[in-house]
Amino acid sequence: MNDQDLLRYSRQIMLPQIGIEGQQVLLDSTMLLIGVGGLGSPSAMYLASAGVGHLIIADFDKVELSNLQRQIVHHTKDIGQFKVDSAKRKILAINPNIKVTTIKALNQDNLGDWVAKADVVLDGSDNFDTRFKVNQSCVGEKTPLVSAAVIRFEGQLSVFKGYELNQPCYQCLYSKEGNNDENCVENGILAPVAGIMGSLQALQAIKIVLNLGSQLTGRLMMIDAMDLTFRDIKISKDESCTICN
Ligand SMILES: [Zn+2]
Repeated sequence: MNDQDLLRYSRQIMLPQIGIEGQQVLLDSTMLLIGVGGLGSPSAMYLASAGVGHLIIADFDKVELSNLQRQIVHHTKDIGQFKVDSAKRKILAINPNIKVTTIKALNQDNLGDWVAKADVVLDGSDNFDTRFKVNQSCVGEKTPLVSAAVIRFEGQLSVFKGYELNQPCYQCLYSKEGNNDENCVENGILAPVAGIMGSLQALQAIKIVLNLGSQLTGRLMMIDAMDLTFRDIKISKDESCTICN
């Protein structure tokens, strides 16, 4: 780290739990973000500003007018552009010293390779099909998964390390049968709810690479933004889960 880096990250370095060593760990880390929408927007910006050295951002979609209400990394002039290109520009404007890799086509063939490059995966996708595939790759590559979902006034967050003994994976919580996608296209969402949950994803991802505090493994945190209540429940490993057993 040079003098500019020490100044840029000074408010983190002065935290005794982080220090110069912890900041260097962040600078040396790689995180994969699945989606740069409502969740991926705030998490990408915070991870960039905090100095995560390499962000790999994946999204096939282009920016639409109806995205701008909550997908805060994208601006009005970005409408029609690929979300990963729009996000990369903003991320590098915040912090030009990090590396950003963009992926427009994440599929069954390359997903495992990208997950293997990451120290942590943040899933900010909006459908069960993607979440199941990302979970399977994370279990296979032994990569921690920070999973979040938002809808209406509600948010959920958990960290999955299904490759560890007695730790559940995402599919221990949600079976492939009987779960229909509920997304904000049909159900709506209040903008800051996405901001809260994306920020919490970034927080947990940083704590995982720094091995700090409570990691939220084996627990599902649920937020009701209307009552502003946070509660969490224990999640158990499903002994019949075909992914993590
Ligand atoms: Zn499982």
